[in-house]
Amino acid sequence: MTTGFARLPAASAFRLTDLRVPACLIEGGDILADRNGLARVDIAIADGRIAAIEPAGAATGAGPALNLDGGIALPRLVDVHVHLDKGHIWPRSPNPDGTFPGALNTVGADREANWSAQDVRARMDFSLRGAFAHGTAAMRTHLDSLGKQIGISWPVYAELRAEWAGRIALQASPLFGADAALDPAHMQAVIAAVKAHGDGLLGCVTYMIPELDRALDILFRAAIENGFDLDFHVDETNDPAARSLEHIADAALRHRFTGRILCGHCCSLALQAPEDEARIIAKVREAGIAVVSLPLCNMYLQDRQPGRTPRWRGVTALHELKAAGVPVMIASDNTRDPFYAYGDLDLVEVLREGTRILQLDHSGPDWAKAVARTPAQVMGVQAGVITVGAPADLILTRARDWTELFSRPQADRSVLVSGRAIDRTLPDYRELDHLMGRAS
Ligand SMILES: [Zn+2]
Repeated sequence: MTTGFARLPAASAFRLTDLRVPACLIEGGDILADRNGLARVDIAIADGRIAAIEPAGAATGAGPALNLDGGIALPRLVDVHVHLDKGHIWPRSPNPDGTFPGALNTVGADREANWSAQDVRARMDFSLRGAFAHGTAAMRTHLDSLGKQIGISWPVYAELRAEWAGRIALQASPLFGADAALDPAHMQAVIAAVKAHGDGLLGCVTYMIPELDRALDILFRAAIENGFDLDFHVDETNDPAARSLEHIADAALRHRFTGRILCGHCCSLALQAPEDEARIIAKVREAGIAVVSLPLCNMYLQDRQPGRTPRWRGVTALHELKAAGVPVMIASDNTRDPFYAYGDLDLVEVLREGTRILQLDHSGPDWAKAVARTPAQVMGVQAGVITVGAPADLILTRARDWTELFSRPQADRSVLVSGRAIDRTLPDYRELDHLMGRAS
């Protein structure tokens, strides 16, 4: 058992003193931040909840205190785009060449051959235990939803959502290619699965098929009829002719859609001519679409050609979207599957690598919102902020500023759930060996 560096008082009421917290993640607070956006605070905790947030040194409440010596604290974080059903299949189904088509074909074959309820459940649970240990409070997964897999993955997902309630709040959105939306039997099966086991979320992967607008009309009409929100995988390509993001915005405006829409990836937006980029971003803003970038996965798949050094980082125009007022986020995406060979659903890693890949530094001190407050709002869950009255769910670190935070993996962090430090032991990969066709 490992609970990180912090030794919390055993009392039910105690104080954490001299913390640095991103001011953008303090709810309702009016506490001065430094130029890095960090506010020095004391936090009082009682019966597992945050009882008070005060400027450091201002309060002298009763009970024992733990001095954090200026270390950064974050709320537990929110991962708005993951693939729990694909996770950790790499040992039995590696990507043959590291490309997007290689990923798509390899996952398809692995799904057909191996994705029983038992297989999906074991890998999902493994992923959730890792995410929980790293400090994740809420997560939206996509579930491959084609043919027989619909009847396998959705019931397993619903069971796990119930088992994990109170530890990680889960949502799921169906994933299939936009062309499948044209098949009424398929749509019927997907909508039935979402109604029976889902969270009021519908979505698909969009790309430039001739029938794209017709497929989008089918999805938007289904969402309106059933009161669903929408979540799309969009333009995950370096082809500037891929502008399905604009088609989604047009469809949202055409249908006067009032639900929430989240678009992931949107890679080719970054490769548009400036006037096209500006027009598309303006429509995205007008349609009320939020955008999540998946920097680790994009960096892995995009611009990969044998024998050629990549010239492009693969990420969308996130700064420009944010400047236009679009809610922007970053998230984990895939973990140890053919779409991304690495990753562990650790949002501290995602924020660190996202900062490097997207150059989030030198562009304002509030980017921590992208893995916390903003995805919590998009998911409609209470998480990602530090607020009086809420459960004392915190990630405590020894880092005193962003460079200390991002220079080390924060392996010694402590994660508090309802005011208690959880066991941060990560699950052992050997647990999955029997599913990978190898002896442990
Ligand atoms: Zn994805």
